[in-house]
Amino acid sequence: MIDRNLLQTEAAAFDVKTDETALERIDCYSEELVRVNKYLNLTAITEPTEVLYKHWLDSLTVLRYVKPKSGAKCMDVGTGAGFPGAALLIARPDLQMTLLDSTRKKLTFIAETLDKIGLSAEILHQRAEEAGRMPAYREQFDLVTARAVAALRELCEYCLPFVKIGGTFAAMKSVRSDEEIVQAQKAMHLLGGQIESVETCTLPYAGERTLILIKKCSQTPSKYPRPSAKIAKQPLI
Ligand code: SAM
Repeated sequence: MIDRNLLQTEAAAFDVKTDETALERIDCYSEELVRVNKYLNLTAITEPTEVLYKHWLDSLTVLRYVKPKSGAKCMDVGTGAGFPGAALLIARPDLQMTLLDSTRKKLTFIAETLDKIGLSAEILHQRAEEAGRMPAYREQFDLVTARAVAALRELCEYCLPFVKIGGTFAAMKSVRSDEEIVQAQKAMHLLGGQIESVETCTLPYAGERTLILIKKCSQTPSKYPRPSAKIAKQPLI
């Protein structure tokens, strides 16, 4: 289904390697995504070229800017049908990946599909703000990612509690919004994070993409994350 040569060339252009096994796995995952989507509503993106650019290449851009060590513990928050988390795992099967979402049907799809392509990840059916209070997940991860989950200010409260000191939270956004970044500064500071860099690139079909890299500099105070209603109603400003 996927144009493997195109994917390999485009990924290589931003210094991400995809070997034959990875390409085979991406192809199989894409076919499953489109097949299961007919009855499960996993994604609005199903046209092959769009799947290639908007799901796979967009997800893989994270590896252009962040180079996790072999065996690094990674978590994708609000992973949906597995983006960017499953894509990162396919490109870097040496990572220890946790895929978190509050919607069980999407996680079932991911678990079955990863099994089919011979990969495994921890599948976590939880709300981020609940898992972030659990000792097994709090400040345990070298890299936490999230794409299309919430505004940056809320996203920081969902994601920064998972990141260990010295680790990175990579927030994937579309068009760069300096206003959104400014609005999230206070939350970042309160939660122990600090902007490391803001990277932008343009992808065919996907347009401008922004990656906000936030370094975890100090421990997240125990009162965060707050319950979801509070996060929504009383943003950290
Ligand atoms: N990251 C995927 C992508 O970019 O294709 C999915 C994006 S989808 C728009 C947002 C996902 O975040 C949904 O699957 C939803 O269930 C999940 N989500 C939203 N809020 C969440 C929370 N507080 N805890 C866990 N999952 C959440």
